[in-house]
Amino acid sequence: MANDTQLEETCYMCSALAVSREHVPPKCLFPESKDIGGLNLRKELITVPSCAAHNAAKSCDDEFLMMSLAGIVGNNSIGYRHWTGKVDRALRRSSYRVLNSTVLKPRRIERLVLDGNLFMDVIWGTPDVARLYKCFEHMLRGLYFHDFGRRFEGEVRLIPGFIKHEPGHAHTWQKLVEARYRYEADSMPRTGGNPEVFYYQRFPTDERGLIAYRLCLYGGVDVYACLIPAAVRMPGSLVAELISGGMKTVITVGEKAFTFN
Ligand SMILES: [Zn+2]
Repeated sequence: MANDTQLEETCYMCSALAVSREHVPPKCLFPESKDIGGLNLRKELITVPSCAAHNAAKSCDDEFLMMSLAGIVGNNSIGYRHWTGKVDRALRRSSYRVLNSTVLKPRRIERLVLDGNLFMDVIWGTPDVARLYKCFEHMLRGLYFHDFGRRFEGEVRLIPGFIKHEPGHAHTWQKLVEARYRYEADSMPRTGGNPEVFYYQRFPTDERGLIAYRLCLYGGVDVYACLIPAAVRMPGSLVAELISGGMKTVITVGEKAFTFN
Protein backbone atom coordinates (compact mmCIF):
# COMPACT_ATOMS: atom_id res chain seq x y z
CA MET A 1 0.00 0.00 0.00
CA ALA A 2 0.98 3.63 -0.35
CA ASN A 3 3.73 4.85 1.93
CA ASP A 4 4.81 8.45 2.58
CA THR A 5 7.05 8.56 -0.46
CA GLN A 6 4.31 7.39 -2.78
CA LEU A 7 1.87 9.97 -1.42
CA GLU A 8 4.22 12.67 -2.68
CA GLU A 9 3.98 11.28 -6.18
CA THR A 10 1.95 12.87 -8.95
CA CYS A 11 -0.50 11.12 -11.27
CA TYR A 12 0.77 9.27 -14.35
CA MET A 13 -1.72 11.23 -16.48
CA CYS A 14 -1.74 14.75 -15.00
CA SER A 15 -0.02 17.02 -12.49
CA ALA A 16 -2.42 16.28 -9.59
CA LEU A 17 -1.18 14.44 -6.52
CA ALA A 18 -1.63 10.68 -6.64
CA VAL A 19 -4.05 9.08 -4.17
CA SER A 20 -3.85 5.46 -5.32
CA ARG A 21 -2.13 3.16 -7.75
CA GLU A 22 -3.51 1.95 -11.09
CA HIS A 23 -2.73 -1.38 -12.71
CA VAL A 24 -1.21 -1.22 -16.19
CA PRO A 25 -2.82 -2.93 -18.03
CA PRO A 26 -6.00 -3.11 -15.88
CA LYS A 27 -6.03 -5.96 -13.39
CA CYS A 28 -9.29 -7.37 -14.75
CA LEU A 29 -7.49 -8.41 -17.95
CA PHE A 30 -5.55 -10.96 -15.89
CA PRO A 31 -7.66 -14.07 -15.21
CA GLU A 32 -8.38 -15.11 -11.63
CA SER A 33 -6.76 -18.39 -10.68
CA LYS A 34 -10.17 -20.06 -10.08
CA ASP A 35 -10.95 -19.64 -13.80
CA ILE A 36 -7.72 -21.18 -15.03
CA GLY A 37 -7.22 -24.24 -12.90
CA GLY A 38 -5.33 -22.57 -10.07
CA LEU A 39 -2.66 -20.98 -12.25
CA ASN A 40 -1.32 -17.68 -10.96
CA LEU A 41 -1.35 -15.21 -13.83
CA ARG A 42 -1.36 -12.12 -11.63
CA LYS A 43 2.35 -12.11 -10.84
CA GLU A 44 4.34 -8.88 -10.61
CA LEU A 45 1.59 -6.69 -12.02
CA ILE A 46 2.70 -3.19 -12.99
CA THR A 47 1.17 -0.26 -11.11
CA VAL A 48 1.55 3.51 -11.45
CA PRO A 49 0.41 6.38 -9.19
CA SER A 50 -2.96 7.91 -10.10
CA CYS A 51 -5.04 10.90 -8.96
CA ALA A 52 -8.67 10.49 -7.85
CA ALA A 53 -10.11 11.82 -11.11
CA HIS A 54 -8.11 9.55 -13.38
CA ASN A 55 -8.71 6.60 -11.11
CA ALA A 56 -12.50 7.07 -11.25
CA ALA A 57 -12.52 7.71 -14.99
CA LYS A 58 -10.66 4.52 -15.68
CA SER A 59 -12.72 1.93 -13.84
CA CYS A 60 -15.58 1.73 -16.34
CA ASP A 61 -13.12 1.71 -19.21
CA ASP A 62 -11.38 -1.29 -17.66
CA GLU A 63 -14.42 -3.51 -18.08
CA PHE A 64 -14.98 -2.20 -21.59
CA LEU A 65 -11.40 -3.10 -22.47
CA MET A 66 -11.73 -6.57 -20.95
CA MET A 67 -14.87 -7.26 -23.00
CA SER A 68 -13.28 -5.95 -26.16
CA LEU A 69 -10.01 -7.82 -25.89
CA ALA A 70 -10.89 -11.17 -24.45
CA GLY A 71 -12.92 -12.09 -27.50
CA ILE A 72 -10.58 -11.06 -30.27
CA VAL A 73 -9.41 -13.28 -33.10
CA GLY A 74 -6.15 -15.09 -32.48
CA ASN A 75 -6.16 -15.19 -28.68
CA ASN A 76 -4.39 -18.07 -26.98
CA SER A 77 -6.19 -20.46 -24.64
CA ILE A 78 -5.66 -18.15 -21.66
CA GLY A 79 -7.60 -15.39 -23.39
CA TYR A 80 -10.25 -17.93 -24.33
CA ARG A 81 -10.64 -19.23 -20.79
CA HIS A 82 -10.76 -15.69 -19.47
CA TRP A 83 -13.57 -15.05 -21.92
CA THR A 84 -15.53 -18.13 -20.87
CA GLY A 85 -14.96 -17.40 -17.17
CA LYS A 86 -14.93 -13.87 -15.90
CA VAL A 87 -16.00 -12.16 -19.08
CA ASP A 88 -18.94 -14.48 -19.51
CA ARG A 89 -20.04 -13.87 -15.90
CA ALA A 90 -19.79 -10.12 -16.43
CA LEU A 91 -21.82 -10.39 -19.62
CA ARG A 92 -24.57 -12.38 -17.93
CA ARG A 93 -24.63 -10.00 -14.99
CA SER A 94 -25.14 -7.06 -17.28
CA SER A 95 -27.60 -8.92 -19.55
CA TYR A 96 -25.22 -8.31 -22.43
CA ARG A 97 -25.65 -4.55 -22.01
CA VAL A 98 -21.89 -4.10 -21.80
CA LEU A 99 -21.35 -6.05 -24.97
CA ASN A 100 -23.74 -3.74 -26.72
CA SER A 101 -21.75 -0.76 -25.58
CA THR A 102 -18.49 -2.53 -26.42
CA VAL A 103 -19.43 -3.36 -29.94
CA LEU A 104 -21.55 -0.69 -31.52
CA LYS A 105 -23.47 -2.99 -33.81
CA PRO A 106 -23.13 -6.49 -32.47
CA ARG A 107 -24.36 -9.08 -34.90
CA ARG A 108 -23.26 -12.39 -33.45
CA ILE A 109 -20.43 -14.06 -31.57
CA GLU A 110 -18.69 -17.10 -32.95
CA ARG A 111 -16.15 -19.28 -31.23
CA LEU A 112 -13.93 -21.31 -33.50
CA VAL A 113 -11.64 -23.88 -31.90
CA LEU A 114 -8.47 -24.59 -33.83
CA ASP A 115 -5.79 -27.16 -33.20
CA GLY A 116 -3.40 -26.93 -30.28
CA ASN A 117 -3.34 -23.80 -28.18
CA LEU A 118 -5.13 -21.56 -30.62
CA PHE A 119 -8.72 -20.48 -30.38
CA MET A 120 -10.45 -17.90 -32.46
CA ASP A 121 -13.26 -15.87 -31.01
CA VAL A 122 -14.92 -13.58 -33.43
CA ILE A 123 -17.28 -10.79 -32.57
CA TRP A 124 -18.96 -9.66 -35.72
CA GLY A 125 -19.73 -6.01 -35.42
CA THR A 126 -18.14 -2.62 -35.33
CA PRO A 127 -15.86 -2.03 -32.35
CA ASP A 128 -15.94 1.30 -30.55
CA VAL A 129 -12.53 2.18 -31.93
CA ALA A 130 -12.27 5.66 -30.43
CA ARG A 131 -12.83 4.29 -26.93
CA LEU A 132 -10.35 1.45 -27.50
CA TYR A 133 -7.73 3.95 -28.63
CA LYS A 134 -8.29 5.95 -25.44
CA CYS A 135 -7.80 2.84 -23.29
CA PHE A 136 -4.58 1.94 -25.07
CA GLU A 137 -3.30 5.50 -24.88
CA HIS A 138 -3.72 5.39 -21.09
CA MET A 139 -1.92 2.05 -21.05
CA LEU A 140 1.02 3.44 -23.01
CA ARG A 141 1.27 6.49 -20.74
CA GLY A 142 1.24 4.15 -17.77
CA LEU A 143 4.01 1.98 -19.20
CA TYR A 144 6.08 5.07 -19.99
CA PHE A 145 5.70 6.23 -16.39
CA HIS A 146 6.73 2.77 -15.23
CA ASP A 147 9.80 2.77 -17.50
CA PHE A 148 10.98 6.35 -17.00
CA GLY A 149 9.55 7.36 -13.60
CA ARG A 150 7.85 10.46 -14.97
CA ARG A 151 4.76 11.49 -16.89
CA PHE A 152 4.92 11.38 -20.69
CA GLU A 153 4.30 14.77 -22.28
CA GLY A 154 3.50 14.46 -25.93
CA GLU A 155 1.43 12.53 -28.42
CA VAL A 156 0.71 8.79 -28.45
CA ARG A 157 0.08 7.30 -31.89
CA LEU A 158 -1.43 3.84 -32.06
CA ILE A 159 -1.87 1.13 -34.63
CA PRO A 160 -3.92 -1.71 -33.13
CA GLY A 161 -2.92 -4.77 -35.13
CA PHE A 162 -6.23 -6.51 -34.46
CA ILE A 163 -8.50 -4.01 -36.20
CA LYS A 164 -9.10 -5.34 -39.66
CA HIS A 165 -9.14 -2.81 -42.47
CA GLU A 166 -10.61 -3.20 -45.93
CA PRO A 167 -7.88 -3.45 -48.59
CA GLY A 168 -6.48 0.02 -49.24
CA HIS A 169 -3.94 2.42 -47.81
CA ALA A 170 -4.87 1.90 -44.16
CA HIS A 171 -4.60 -1.85 -44.62
CA THR A 172 -1.19 -1.65 -46.33
CA TRP A 173 0.14 0.79 -43.72
CA GLN A 174 -0.93 -1.55 -40.95
CA LYS A 175 0.81 -4.51 -42.58
CA LEU A 176 3.92 -2.39 -43.10
CA VAL A 177 4.02 -1.24 -39.49
CA GLU A 178 3.51 -4.79 -38.24
CA ALA A 179 6.33 -6.10 -40.42
CA ARG A 180 8.67 -3.32 -39.37
CA TYR A 181 8.01 -3.81 -35.67
CA ARG A 182 8.23 -7.56 -35.85
CA TYR A 183 11.46 -7.32 -37.84
CA GLU A 184 13.07 -5.49 -34.92
CA ALA A 185 11.07 -7.04 -32.11
CA ASP A 186 12.75 -10.44 -32.28
CA SER A 187 15.84 -9.06 -30.59
CA MET A 188 14.02 -6.95 -27.99
CA PRO A 189 13.47 -8.18 -24.44
CA ARG A 190 9.90 -8.86 -23.33
CA THR A 191 8.68 -7.26 -20.11
CA GLY A 192 5.80 -8.71 -18.10
CA GLY A 193 5.41 -11.25 -15.30
CA ASN A 194 2.59 -13.10 -17.12
CA PRO A 195 3.53 -13.16 -20.81
CA GLU A 196 0.56 -15.45 -21.66
CA VAL A 197 -1.68 -12.54 -20.69
CA PHE A 198 0.46 -9.49 -21.40
CA TYR A 199 3.97 -8.41 -22.23
CA TYR A 200 5.48 -5.41 -23.90
CA GLN A 201 8.62 -4.51 -25.78
CA ARG A 202 10.12 -1.04 -25.73
CA PHE A 203 12.37 -0.16 -28.63
CA PRO A 204 15.43 2.03 -28.15
CA THR A 205 14.65 5.74 -28.39
CA ASP A 206 15.54 6.83 -31.94
CA GLU A 207 17.69 9.80 -32.95
CA ARG A 208 14.66 12.12 -33.07
CA GLY A 209 13.55 11.10 -29.57
CA LEU A 210 10.66 8.89 -30.65
CA ILE A 211 9.87 5.84 -28.56
CA ALA A 212 8.18 2.79 -30.03
CA TYR A 213 6.34 0.13 -28.06
CA ARG A 214 4.82 -3.18 -29.00
CA LEU A 215 2.18 -4.60 -26.65
CA CYS A 216 0.99 -8.20 -26.87
CA LEU A 217 -2.16 -9.42 -25.09
CA TYR A 218 -3.28 -13.04 -24.84
CA GLY A 219 -0.53 -14.09 -27.22
CA GLY A 220 -2.34 -12.79 -30.27
CA VAL A 221 -3.52 -9.21 -29.83
CA ASP A 222 -0.79 -6.82 -30.92
CA VAL A 223 -0.79 -3.07 -30.46
CA TYR A 224 1.97 -0.91 -31.91
CA ALA A 225 2.58 2.56 -30.57
CA CYS A 226 4.85 5.50 -31.18
CA LEU A 227 5.34 8.11 -28.45
CA ILE A 228 6.23 11.53 -29.80
CA PRO A 229 7.52 13.88 -27.07
CA ALA A 230 6.05 17.41 -27.19
CA ALA A 231 9.54 18.84 -27.71
CA VAL A 232 10.06 16.81 -30.88
CA ARG A 233 9.05 18.52 -34.11
CA MET A 234 8.09 15.91 -36.65
CA PRO A 235 9.25 16.79 -40.13
CA GLY A 236 6.63 16.24 -42.85
CA SER A 237 7.00 12.75 -44.25
CA LEU A 238 8.02 12.74 -47.91
CA VAL A 239 6.89 9.14 -48.18
CA ALA A 240 3.43 9.93 -46.80
CA GLU A 241 3.09 12.84 -49.23
CA LEU A 242 4.06 10.67 -52.18
CA ILE A 243 1.51 8.08 -51.21
CA SER A 244 -1.35 10.51 -50.62
CA GLY A 245 -0.43 12.23 -53.89
CA GLY A 246 -1.10 8.98 -55.75
CA MET A 247 2.52 8.13 -56.56
CA LYS A 248 3.30 4.44 -56.77
CA THR A 249 5.50 3.82 -53.73
CA VAL A 250 7.16 0.61 -52.61
CA ILE A 251 8.51 0.27 -49.06
CA THR A 252 10.51 -2.80 -48.13
CA VAL A 253 10.99 -4.33 -44.70
CA GLY A 254 13.47 -7.17 -44.69
CA GLU A 255 12.40 -9.26 -47.66
CA LYS A 256 8.79 -8.05 -47.77
CA ALA A 257 7.63 -5.30 -50.11
CA PHE A 258 4.59 -3.09 -49.51
CA THR A 259 3.14 -1.33 -52.51
CA PHE A 260 0.98 1.80 -52.37
CA ASN A 261 -1.02 3.08 -55.36
ZN1 LIG B 1 -4.59 12.51 -12.94
